[in-house]
Amino acid sequence: MHPRNPYRTPPDFCKLAEAYPALTPCIISYSGGFSIDFKNETSQRRLTEALLHRDFEISLNLPLNRLCPPVPNRLNYVLWIQDVIRTTEFLEHTPPVLGLDIGTGASAIYPLLSCRLDSAWSFIATDVDNFSLSCAQSNVEQNGLADRIQVFQTTPEAPIFAPLHQDPDLRADFTMCNPPFYSSREDVVASVDSKEFEPNAVCTGADVEMITEGGEASFVRRMVDESAKIGERCRWYTSMLGKMSSMTEIVGAIREHGIQNYGITEFVQGSTRRWAVVWSFSDFRLSDNVARITNPQLQTLMPPRNTLRQPIQVPAQNVGRLNDILSEVLAAVEGARVVDDNIFSRFIIYANKNTWSRAARRKNKHATPDTPSAEEILAPNLICSMRWIFSETGDAEGIETSLECQWMQGKDRSLFEGFASHISRKVSESVRMSLGREF
Ligand code: SAH
Repeated sequence: MHPRNPYRTPPDFCKLAEAYPALTPCIISYSGGFSIDFKNETSQRRLTEALLHRDFEISLNLPLNRLCPPVPNRLNYVLWIQDVIRTTEFLEHTPPVLGLDIGTGASAIYPLLSCRLDSAWSFIATDVDNFSLSCAQSNVEQNGLADRIQVFQTTPEAPIFAPLHQDPDLRADFTMCNPPFYSSREDVVASVDSKEFEPNAVCTGADVEMITEGGEASFVRRMVDESAKIGERCRWYTSMLGKMSSMTEIVGAIREHGIQNYGITEFVQGSTRRWAVVWSFSDFRLSDNVARITNPQLQTLMPPRNTLRQPIQVPAQNVGRLNDILSEVLAAVEGARVVDDNIFSRFIIYANKNTWSRAARRKNKHATPDTPSAEEILAPNLICSMRWIFSETGDAEGIETSLECQWMQGKDRSLFEGFASHISRKVSESVRMSLGREF
């Protein structure tokens, strides 16, 4: 589960029932304490209502013939999108954020949760199902969020990103989607038999919520194709995926389009696994903890690293001097602007071109230094951050020290990697030299 997800530890069901008495009849006792019957549909619904009521002040009307969204799982996806959005926090003023929720369902769960979590967010929430759309509209209204969540009716034949197609001036910060998973009724039945999904979700979902031609992979593939035409009018395109095999297909589609700026993540909740994918045509770069996962089965799908770490041996008594050493090395890079970001104990570096390699320095010796153009100052070719990371090793050495270089913005991967390796080398040399003077 996401580190900020409060449901990493299961709720105290008795306390929850005090806050939402309708849950009381669903509480069961067992040898280890109290819980609810997760296989019982009514209990699941009361639990979702209770958590939303107590923890998010959301009151939800869930029709019986539509999906009941489990809150911890939906929250995982929202928190990960928050991480994605925060990627650009340092680089831009925090603007109002507009998200597109594709297939919002009767609950409008994603927009409601997100708007409660973040007052700067607003949504356009689409669906093709009239019944779900009217429930979504009343859920939005009864929570007083009609000014921030626009419910948008579309059709299966229309482009998936219909609002962006209809209004060429519209810009969005992200799209999100929990797509219909299955390709047919038979596919649903096969999945129930293989216990791939919670039985409850399958029982209460209507066909329109669960089935789409070609299943989730072809739905999200359509998104990738459409996104190529919309490009940077939306900053981050994302979707959840319910099958691991769909990840292979979607990352394949992303790569076919030549999109190198993408990431994948995995949501684990008990025995249930879900995945999500993000891609972008912008030059903002995601950190590895947002865009890469450790699951060995998905290693071939992983995007290249944007977070590089170089272990550097430093005796414990010297760690206090490391920031000074890093700062001196960075100050010596010709043409780079360095900002000390005290709040996160890191330096932000803005550079336009390689001035640091041996070849570049040799060339520059004889040339008059270029003055960067106004455009280069406003939009430098490379923005990255550098900081020290200390991690416990568990052995006699105690602490391992590494220098971390995080790519934040830019199109040229080799410029970033070259810079990171140059600084790591210089810092290692400098650490060795300054220790040599003392010992
Ligand atoms: N977001 C909700 C519902 C997900 S179910 C949740 O996470 O609980 C998938 C939803 O997608 C259904 O409500 C279905 O009606 C909708 N849907 C199917 N095809 C669509 C399309 N082409 N455009 C928008 N929504 C669609």
